[in-house]
Amino acid sequence: MNPLFVANWKMHKTIGEATAYAHRFGALAADLPGADLVLAPPFTALEAVARALRGTGVEVAGQDLYFEPQGAYTGEVSAAMLLDAGCRLVIIGHSERRRLFGETDQDSARKVRSALAAGLTPILCVGETLEEREGGRTRAVVERQLAAVLSGLRLGASDRMVVAYEPVWAIGTGRHATPEQAVEVHRTVRRALSRELGAAEQSIRILYGGSVSPENIGDLTAAPEIQGALVGGASLEAEKFAELVRRGLAARPRKGR
Ligand code: PEP
Repeated sequence: MNPLFVANWKMHKTIGEATAYAHRFGALAADLPGADLVLAPPFTALEAVARALRGTGVEVAGQDLYFEPQGAYTGEVSAAMLLDAGCRLVIIGHSERRRLFGETDQDSARKVRSALAAGLTPILCVGETLEEREGGRTRAVVERQLAAVLSGLRLGASDRMVVAYEPVWAIGTGRHATPEQAVEVHRTVRRALSRELGAAEQSIRILYGGSVSPENIGDLTAAPEIQGALVGGASLEAEKFAELVRRGLAARPRKGR
């Protein structure tokens, strides 16, 4: 399986800025064979970015969704609406959603089911706070977050899912997990996936996210356990994100996933 690199733009870029980026990145992507590439713009720019990327192989993701199919939910966007706008994937349970908007493990569980039912690939984010890490609770927290979503979940043959390990203390702080710290948690995630999903876990890539940059990506993707990255700040310029992907690809081990 190719490594996967996802650009999470968060609340950045107008439609015009997003479209210009997408055209530029679509051209740069031609020189990045062997990577699966995804841009996650804000809702307002989804359709324009999907149109600009047509034919490039670069996919588009929503940054969130609401689990109900439709109804009186002011401000929310459904899985079907994301599909309609050209998305193939959706980020779920990002720590900013959990921390700033009060989203729970149960919300993530409902959102993942809703995404899968619509044919979208959920990118489920999990990760511990600094306090949890320092209290020795990293594994327990990540296992709890995963169990809430995975328990009772059955992935069909055509269902796709991605998990992103994003330590909260590393997001937007310039402080990233060491490869050893990331690998340890990735192994925990892999074991949980295997326990809950059986053989279906083999189709799931586990990404690392948290202050990934062109300077540190190679140390991370050199580990076979790290199958790509979810990138915030370093994805906001097309050239910089393409360089990050190029270095991430160059560092990949030759064999393994
Ligand atoms: C993110 O938004 O998921 C993220 C990891 O952000 P940053 O790369 O800026 O830390």
